[in-house]
Amino acid sequence: MHGSRQRGRSARAVTLTLALLSWAAGCGGVPASTAEAVDAPTRSVSSVRFADADVFVPPGPQERRAAIGPIDHLEPGLQSAFVETAQFKPVHPPEPGDWLYRVRERGQTFESYARSDANQPAKPGEGRDTIYILPIGDFPDGFIVEHERVVLVRSPAPEVLEDYAERFFAMPVEVLEPLAQDEVKVRTRVRHGRDQLYAPELLELLAPQVPVDGFCLIALTNDDLFADEAQEFSFGYASLTGRVGVYSFARYDPLFNGEERGEFFLDLILRRSLKIMAHEIGHMFGLEHCVHYGCLMNGAADLVETDRNPPFLCPVCLRKLQFATGFEPVPRYREMLEFYDEHELRDELRWLEGRLAFVTGEY
Ligand SMILES: [Zn+2]
Ligand SMILES: [Zn+2]
Repeated sequence: MHGSRQRGRSARAVTLTLALLSWAAGCGGVPASTAEAVDAPTRSVSSVRFADADVFVPPGPQERRAAIGPIDHLEPGLQSAFVETAQFKPVHPPEPGDWLYRVRERGQTFESYARSDANQPAKPGEGRDTIYILPIGDFPDGFIVEHERVVLVRSPAPEVLEDYAERFFAMPVEVLEPLAQDEVKVRTRVRHGRDQLYAPELLELLAPQVPVDGFCLIALTNDDLFADEAQEFSFGYASLTGRVGVYSFARYDPLFNGEERGEFFLDLILRRSLKIMAHEIGHMFGLEHCVHYGCLMNGAADLVETDRNPPFLCPVCLRKLQFATGFEPVPRYREMLEFYDEHELRDELRWLEGRLAFVTGEY
């Protein structure tokens, strides 16, 4: 995919948007004319300056450290998890077409996150500690039936996503009984001959179905989505505060765009699915897009950027998630390592081995 990458605007006519019910966070491609209000002024303290209206300036080392916040008072295990190391790369300087080239995001520091009233399961008395996955349609092999074609869309089995989410968020995750595609009656539109579901209406439909002990509910669909008339499509759509989201597998399979699948297409689909799921659930913890490091929570304008963004959280975002859930870094990394080992994703495995060596001090 990288080899045939085009940076032209036409190749960028894709939109991945994760918008939020009560305040918005973009999650991918955006309409050219409007940048989503990612950082509501009352919710976020900027740690990044813009040299002018159009240019994103990647934060320097001091700004990155400020975004992590003071860690000297933390126990050693947490200090070593949150300190910047060479394993974390500064955010990729945006090129034309990239998310940060098109959307002005100022970033969310750890401290501004901690002060926010984000959805956080570790808050006492909430009693909501399970992440629910709701499949809509058939997985891992689904069909999209459209006007002039039927497309086979491959995705990971929901149980694989469940397993990963449990390790990533260190919380119980359960897959709910699937809904049939025709049970979901929401507005649709046709774009380039493809049917697309109107994601905000889908969330309205799903919101009452979040179980009482549900921290959040993420629905999986093979149908293509749109969240805004101005957008070509949306990979996902979720609420930061409404505890409900949806994401679509339609576009991860190269077959969707009539491309060759290639020898490693299952790995490619798995990687994309894990990243976008964790990213979108991350938003439901109140995590905004990351502008400090290469990070799972970076915005992505298209699959090229999704593929480039790391599957792991940077120190700033890791600290936010740890604040939200209270996980212990070493067991969490070990659990994730086991998953990547089982699925033979070598790059991720190596990164986690290096990470564990540092965090445990066992070089
Ligand atoms: Zn996002
Ligand atoms: Zn980050």
